[in-house]
Parts: sequence; C-alpha cells; structure tokens
Amino acid sequence: MTALALMGLLPENASTTGSVNLDGENLLQKSEAEMCRVRGNKMAMIFQEPMTSLNPVHTVGRQIMEPLRLHKGLSKSSAMQEAIRLLDRVGIPNPAERVSNYPHQLSGGQRQRVMIALALSCSPDVLIADEPTTALDVTIQDQILELIQTLVQEEGMSLVLISHDLGVIAENTDNVIVMYGGTVVESGKTDHIFDQLTHPYTQGLFAAMPKVGMGRGKRLTTIPGTVPDLINLPSGCTFTDRCPLASDICAGNIPPVNQMEGSHLVTCHHLQQAVSARSKGLYE
Ligand code: SF4
Repeated sequence: MTALALMGLLPENASTTGSVNLDGENLLQKSEAEMCRVRGNKMAMIFQEPMTSLNPVHTVGRQIMEPLRLHKGLSKSSAMQEAIRLLDRVGIPNPAERVSNYPHQLSGGQRQRVMIALALSCSPDVLIADEPTTALDVTIQDQILELIQTLVQEEGMSLVLISHDLGVIAENTDNVIVMYGGTVVESGKTDHIFDQLTHPYTQGLFAAMPKVGMGRGKRLTTIPGTVPDLINLPSGCTFTDRCPLASDICAGNIPPVNQMEGSHLVTCHHLQQAVSARSKGLYE
C-alpha cells in the first residue's frame, strides 16, 4: 500500500496524509495527468507477480515500447530497437525473437526480467521493487536480485526494495524501514538494524528465521497471535496484542520514537526492556 501510495496508484476510495517528495515536488498534490508523466518516467515499479502485471494480450515488445513512445517520443522502429536492447540488457536470450513473444510464452524468471526491462525503459530516478522474487525459485531469485543491483548501480538509480526475506534485505539495502500494521516501528542503517535488533517485532522476525543446525523435528520460533485487522487497528501500539513486553500503556497510547545511535530510530514505550531482552531472546 505504501508503494502504491508513492506511485499514486491507490484505489479511488483510499485517502492519504503527509507528503511524497521527489525532486522537491510533493507528488500527492499532482493531478492524475501529471502523475502519468512521473510514473514510468521518473519513478517505476517492478511488481510481485509478472504474470498478472504484464498484459497477456500484448507482446512483451509492445509493452516495453509503450512508455518509450509515450515518455520519450521515440518512433515505432526506434522504440522496437530500444525494446530489443533492453531485453538483451536484462539477459533475455535471442531478444530480437523474444520481443514478439506474449507473456505466457516466457518462463517466470524471463517474465520478471521483462518487468525489469519495462521498469528501466525510461531510466527512472527511483525504482520500486515490490517483493520482486516472491514467485521465483531460489536460484532464479539470486539472478534477478543480482541483475537489479547491477542495473541500479550502473544507471545510478535509487532502489526501494520491499521484502519479507531478511536475507534479501541484508544483502541488497543500505537502509531499512521495518513496518508493522501500517506503521514504521524501526528504521536505520541496515548494518545497525541487523546488529542491534531492538524493536520487539524486529526481534520476532529474526527469531522466526530458520537456523542452520537447529536439529530435526525442532519447531521454528513464531510470533504469537495474528496480524491485526488493518481497518480496525489498536489505538496505541499496533503490535500490542502480540508483544511479549506489552503493558497497559501500550494499548492506549501511541509509542514514542526513540533516537538510538546515528539514524537508528525505534518506536516503543519500553525501549530499555526491549534492549535488555535482545540478548536473552524475547521469543525463546
Ligand atoms: S510499545 Fe509496547 S506493545 Fe509496542 S512494541 Fe513496545 S513494548 Fe511492545
């Protein structure tokens, strides 16, 4: 939802507060026509499942050509040449032939590469990748993440990577924002967050990761309870119902944002208890 809000793609009945600033402009104040010039041009998104994000009735070439013609004003033949170059750039074999394929004629990994080519077509300043490898097996996942990293560095783009996979986050980001129930619970440099797991939810996420050598038959650690109803969130801390450190103050009062070392921020009423709990294991 946050990524869709950044792109101005929320459902019509959604409401937003705050601001989305890009190049000194608040995107929330732009009209739909103005946002059409931003989307795909300055800011692009790689969606989770390319099979449902790509249009099944158009060739992949036509879909890559569309933003090139719309935003860059390329002629049909130049756009086709550029689409072939982009397919080659993202590692699609025989791009001159593949450009005429429909999405169903490609494998899952190839479809995701097409999505990346589409997102890159107008050299955006910001690339949002929303769980870009969820639908892929582990080997292809590595290849796609490596491709995204290479392209981001070579093209000088900023990357916003959304993932539940902590390994993916550790290897591919400089800064992390941990969100729970639609709110930011912890943020800071990736090294700091991974080194100093502080917020009870962040500790729970790490505790839930399978550990090498944990032994056959041993159950994985879980965070008790379930995610709250997002329409009807608790009035205080959104993690109250599941947090081992929760007390009365948590249920009715929005927790304070605590400044840790550097840019590291933790939103919690019981910061000291959370800090002391991390060495003992809050969920063991
Ligand atoms: S504010 Fe309370 S419920 Fe929320 S994370 Fe901190 S201790 Fe847990």
